Amino acid sequence: MKHFSTDTLIYHYDKNIPNVDTVEEGEIFTVDTVDAYGNQITSEEILRTQIDRQYLSGCTGPIGIKGAMPGDTLCVEILDITFDDFGVMPISPGMGSLGHLDRIPDHETKLVYVKNDYCYFSKDIVFPVRPMIGNIGVASENEGDLRTSWPGDHGSNIDCTEITIGSKVYLPVAKEGAGLAMGDLHAAMGDGELSQTGVEAPGHVKARAFVYKESIKRPMVETVDNIYTLASAKTLDEAIPLAVEDMVDFLMKKKNLNFQDAYRLLSVTCDIQICQIVNPRKTVRCRAPKAILGIHTIFD
Ligand code: CA
Ligand code: CA
Repeated sequence: MKHFSTDTLIYHYDKNIPNVDTVEEGEIFTVDTVDAYGNQITSEEILRTQIDRQYLSGCTGPIGIKGAMPGDTLCVEILDITFDDFGVMPISPGMGSLGHLDRIPDHETKLVYVKNDYCYFSKDIVFPVRPMIGNIGVASENEGDLRTSWPGDHGSNIDCTEITIGSKVYLPVAKEGAGLAMGDLHAAMGDGELSQTGVEAPGHVKARAFVYKESIKRPMVETVDNIYTLASAKTLDEAIPLAVEDMVDFLMKKKNLNFQDAYRLLSVTCDIQICQIVNPRKTVRCRAPKAILGIHTIFD
């Protein structure tokens, strides 16, 4: 089984960075990841202000997928996600959705131990692990999209809680081999990532990828029960219509409907949901329930 270690991290989804290695379609591979802070916070004594910012948002890759060509769609199936001993939750004045309230007096770090599928937040507060991949993407053509901290049409820092064990992530391919990378695993995160961190933990992903000779504009995610279109933009108001229009177009195609009826059907069966509101662009997803709509797959 091919293994991708944290020896090769990228900080830009730049199509000029050569792929580290190439896997075959359907071949299972494993990926080690660093946390969003580059594993620099190893104790509660280390504050967010003390780390080297050039190592933020490192993603492991780029991984080449044989047969992927520009205009294709890469489907990454997440088979497993595991974590090491602990995750970190640093906090600093100004961080997250309430940063403007000036209620965080100083920088501080919390370590959250991750053991036997539970997160140990404090002596009294323990909650189940909800594994997810915060950052997953492919090489982009768009110069403005390249930093791994920026979510975009190529994926990247989209922080979608539905990207978990058993999910399939669909990404639009811009270069031969796609250049898949991933990182920023969370042992737990709520929708929105409201204080600006999940339980940020180094970990390990087992996955395989498939290539579809079909095009999508932006990321899509498929779970057992749902299909999602994802969009990132400067504001939620700008991101929502992008994800909604992608879903209307998807419903038109899958259900053979005109725009008006697909729009109506979306309005009564689909939900708009928030992925994250704390990155340089905000990310939303539109959820379509497979059973209600009689849709089984994204393609074919
Ligand atoms: Ca993130
Ligand atoms: Ca994170």
